Amino acid sequence: TVGAVARDVHGHLAAATSTGGLTGKRWGRIGDTPLIGSGTYAIDNTCAVSATGTGEYFIRQSAGRQVCDRIAWRGESVAEAAQDTIDEIAEIGGDGGLIAMDRDGHVGFALNTAGMFRGSVSSKQAPQVAIYADEKPTHP
Ligand code: ASP
Repeated sequence: TVGAVARDVHGHLAAATSTGGLTGKRWGRIGDTPLIGSGTYAIDNTCAVSATGTGEYFIRQSAGRQVCDRIAWRGESVAEAAQDTIDEIAEIGGDGGLIAMDRDGHVGFALNTAGMFRGSVSSKQAPQVAIYADEKPTHP
């Protein structure tokens, strides 16, 4: 799994996620990655989110949308919103991680799993980018 979030010179936010899905998944399973609002989400003026992990739990928590709502409606920082969303996912039994970028280019990383390599390139001037690669071969 690889994912990225970015903010361009005009302040627009974008998210992208690519995955092979879960190892041993049922034929025809659709995970959270292509579901906008779950594994991938971006909305200008709020945040962009890309997630990896046990997709069913990210879907149940509307992970991407939840991060943005926490920022927009609860006034959380992007780091708090990322962590609180992962905590909600963990609470119902999910594992994984996500990256998020707010409208100012601040980045939040949160995970409750090992093996999510992550980093960001940011400066005062856009574009700003954060990426991750999840190298775990499977999620049980
Ligand atoms: N979230 C993906 C899924 O459940 C798996 C992954 O890419 O981490 O399909």
